[in-house]
Amino acid sequence: MTKPTPIKVDMEKLVSLCQRRGFIFPGSEIYGGLSSCWDYGPLGVELKRNIKQAWWRAVVQERDDIVGLDASILMHPQTWEASGHLKGFTDPLVECKSCHLRWRVDDLAGDSCPSCGGELTEPRLFNLMFKTFMGPIEDEASVVYLRPETAQGMFVNFENVLDTTRKRLPFGMAQIGKAFRNEITTGNFIFRSREFEQMEIEFFVKPGSDKEWFDYWLEERFNWYVKLGIKKENLKLRQHMKHELAHYAKACYDIDYLFPMGWAELEGIANRGDFDLVQHAKYSGKSLDYFDEETKEHIIPYIIEPSAGVDRSALAFLCDAYDEELAGGELRVLLHLHPILAPIKVAILPLSRREKLVALAKQIHADLRQCWMVDYDDAQSIGRRYRRQDEIGTPFCLTVDFQSLEDEQVTIRERDTMNQIRLPIAELRRTLQAKLEGEDFFVLPPGGRIWKEGESV
Ligand code: ATP
Repeated sequence: MTKPTPIKVDMEKLVSLCQRRGFIFPGSEIYGGLSSCWDYGPLGVELKRNIKQAWWRAVVQERDDIVGLDASILMHPQTWEASGHLKGFTDPLVECKSCHLRWRVDDLAGDSCPSCGGELTEPRLFNLMFKTFMGPIEDEASVVYLRPETAQGMFVNFENVLDTTRKRLPFGMAQIGKAFRNEITTGNFIFRSREFEQMEIEFFVKPGSDKEWFDYWLEERFNWYVKLGIKKENLKLRQHMKHELAHYAKACYDIDYLFPMGWAELEGIANRGDFDLVQHAKYSGKSLDYFDEETKEHIIPYIIEPSAGVDRSALAFLCDAYDEELAGGELRVLLHLHPILAPIKVAILPLSRREKLVALAKQIHADLRQCWMVDYDDAQSIGRRYRRQDEIGTPFCLTVDFQSLEDEQVTIRERDTMNQIRLPIAELRRTLQAKLEGEDFFVLPPGGRIWKEGESV
């Protein structure tokens, strides 16, 4: 196995960059903040949207066997009885301060964490779900919960989706949405918060084929992170020990990432067996089985669940992309974000604020923003502007100079190598599109040429 690449950023540095550049702010900051709640700023919201879009594309848009869903956050309270969340979360629990595993006090032999030996919190009767009230009367009858996972919305819609899409096994549902957990211990920036976003797949398969599909999803999901730029050696699969497995789960692996605080879960992939459909059928009184046309039998499908966090993914992508290097005697901070994830794809930098130049730069801006998130920056020296874009991971900077007014060409600079090419404005859209999709930087459009550092215009 290749050795993990040392991460070049600690949490403090990353939090500071995220706040300074408008990726992520502490929630309700003017009131002193609200513990473990975070607000995504102008760049953070773009990063998150890009992550979600890349996930949706990979698991819904490009597949025949998965459909999307957007279920309500508030669900019938019986949902949580059926799922075991109500009962499971009201036992006295202690939590390990280092690995965050929770233990029922009754199950403990000693006073340290059975998994890692870490220190444990005091026992508390703890329900992880946030409780609220529906309607004008605050009594037990009106209690509802904010969902602690998006999964249950997909289980309860099994029949609806099956009937309306006419999908046959194996097929899945995918959902992105907020989840809420009143976590005992939070921390490590957006790694563990009380309000977060999940990207979950529930993949329904014939019993007997579950092992094969489980292995398939492990590989598929691991590779998704790698394709989006995370270094393979900073990821690993970790099998859950017997005592970590939920009582219904047949198998579970985590995809762990080497965060600045150490290896920790990025995504969980579980073989849930038939537990969920059996439970919801029992509590709702509705049959949730599936008629297998081949065998002419009614069966309860098994479920493979890859469950990822948007916030944890954002944190992993940021940590992995962070880099510092010396360039021209100065420290250059840059984010090597995959172009698909970069909040801003292209920055337009006019070399001067002269009217004619500005008019051309604005015209290019108006054109390119039809395709992508594009920034326009005319403040300070060109070097400072390049650094600002490097620090937020913008793949391409485009300079408009006086020569552009005559030859209708502009210069594009690539973030990681700082290489530059010059090309006709008419070729911009097509060339940038190709480069954002991975075309070699030095593949030139008609009329384009390689631009040398210091070359005069
Ligand atoms: P952990 O053990 O770290 O608390 P978990 O095993 O409880 O996580 P799951 O229930 O498997 O997490 O949830 C699936 C995914 O949702 C996790 O892999 C993670 O990416 C995300 N997630 C869960 N809890 C949180 C949280 N409190 N803050 C941010 N993301 C979370």
